[in-house]
Amino acid sequence: MRLTFYGVRGSIPTPGAAYVRYGGNTACVHIELEDGTDIILDSGTGIRLLGDHLVKKTTPIHLLLSHNHWDHIQGFPFFAPIYQESREINIYPGQTSLNEPDQILKQMEGSLFPVPKSALKSNINLIKLPATQETFTVGSATITRLVMNHPGSGSAYCIEENGAKVAYITDNELYPPYKKETDFIDFAKFAHGADLLIHDAQYMLSDMPAKNGWGHSIAEEAVKLAMASHAKQLALYSHDPERTDNDIDDVVKHCIDYVTVAESTLQVFASSEGQTLGFN
Ligand SMILES: [Zn+2]
Repeated sequence: MRLTFYGVRGSIPTPGAAYVRYGGNTACVHIELEDGTDIILDSGTGIRLLGDHLVKKTTPIHLLLSHNHWDHIQGFPFFAPIYQESREINIYPGQTSLNEPDQILKQMEGSLFPVPKSALKSNINLIKLPATQETFTVGSATITRLVMNHPGSGSAYCIEENGAKVAYITDNELYPPYKKETDFIDFAKFAHGADLLIHDAQYMLSDMPAKNGWGHSIAEEAVKLAMASHAKQLALYSHDPERTDNDIDDVVKHCIDYVTVAESTLQVFASSEGQTLGFN
């Protein structure tokens, strides 16, 4: 399994010189399985560049969506494979509280975008799993999903293949002030033993209480989850658009201090565009 980050920013793209090291594109992660299957986690603006690579292939693409907020679907109209003749694209919508599995396609309707979805030449399939189905298979991977704590809800995913495990949990508020869908303990079980946990770490304690209930976690809480789940590595994800590269460096340092004092072997880093990790 080979994983590459294409978009790591939360909420809105952040172009500009102060954001180039970690990158300004919104949520998108690519996983290539051992059998060559391409899995994409979310369709934020980062998916545009990924499309330039995948358009050279002809094999099916599997797009797993966490939810339908703009920063997770906005790149889709610029994803080159959707214009490819007969390219198979399977979309797995997130478990959102409003049952709107086709929102990613609806953004290509009316006055929102110049190219209507009816003009797309690819074969796009919406895979609507039963609400109670937690596990499914894509290529050589077993995928498990879990409902997250976020305004409007959404899905977290674990991708497992040949003993390697990646957990993708964003956008998620581990300790929400509203009625939670999933408890911290259940997230820890879900991500248990992950080689890599990618988790929402948009805020710091200093952002609170102003952003309490906005649907994202404090970086320190993501570290706590990674340690509770015995993950090997934690990728801080969904960086706040207000944080520059230097600010993110400070977040990472704070998290490493936490891990050090806890005498944990967890490796913590801030995810960055173009960063590739291999498992197995
Ligand atoms: Zn969101």
